[in-house]
Amino acid sequence: MQSQIYVKITVIVIFIKAYMSQALNFQITSFLTSAAKLSQCPEDNGREVAFIGRSNAGKSSALNLLTQQKNLARVSKTPGRTQLLNFFTVTENCRLVDLPGYGYAKVPQAIKENWRASMTNYLEKRQSLAGLILLMDIRHPLTPYDEQMVNFTQFYKIPLHILLTKSDKLSRSQGLNTLKQIQNKLQQQQKITLQLFSATKRIGLEELKQVVTQWLLDS
Ligand code: GDP
Repeated sequence: MQSQIYVKITVIVIFIKAYMSQALNFQITSFLTSAAKLSQCPEDNGREVAFIGRSNAGKSSALNLLTQQKNLARVSKTPGRTQLLNFFTVTENCRLVDLPGYGYAKVPQAIKENWRASMTNYLEKRQSLAGLILLMDIRHPLTPYDEQMVNFTQFYKIPLHILLTKSDKLSRSQGLNTLKQIQNKLQQQQKITLQLFSATKRIGLEELKQVVTQWLLDS
């Protein structure tokens, strides 16, 4: 009897998850606006999921794959926009935010300070921020900047999902090993999930879609 109930619940959960992952059509995502600081961001209502990571971690590739648009995130890489927060509309009141890449050695100190200030302000005060996707190259995970970001989300209780990007560069078992090591390192932390991801091999796309959809549609 109990096992029947368990099976029924599992089936219902699977259907809900399947429904939710289809409920958002990421392909119609379009560029909304850029902001240099919090006051320039779109009105703080609805829900948004922000993407952050070290420069070159694969953030643009992940956003392009998620939205099935080859050049969606190119806008964030155009001169003058790399230090901005770039907003994209998925559907009414649901947004993706491409936050500036960090840890780029050539960037002058003053710009780094500026970045830190606008990031802190955004993460601390943005009411519509439903969760943060942190991208880390699986071959160089948890850099000091990444750790700072993890600590930050813990402090402000922002749900965090980590993508271990470029996982195609490792064998499946090496990838799973790294995943496990990082899981162990972060096991004391609250509200953190992580997964393997590869934009080139489309590894982990469905998992990412589910997390983003759940954050955007949960009320
Ligand atoms: P961003 O600076 O974080 O936006 O990173 P990009 O998406 O521009 O990617 C940086 C570099 O990594 C580019 O040369 C991409 O082609 C490469 N790259 C991105 N994702 C993957 C991946 O999943 N696998 C591999 N092998 N390379 C990737």
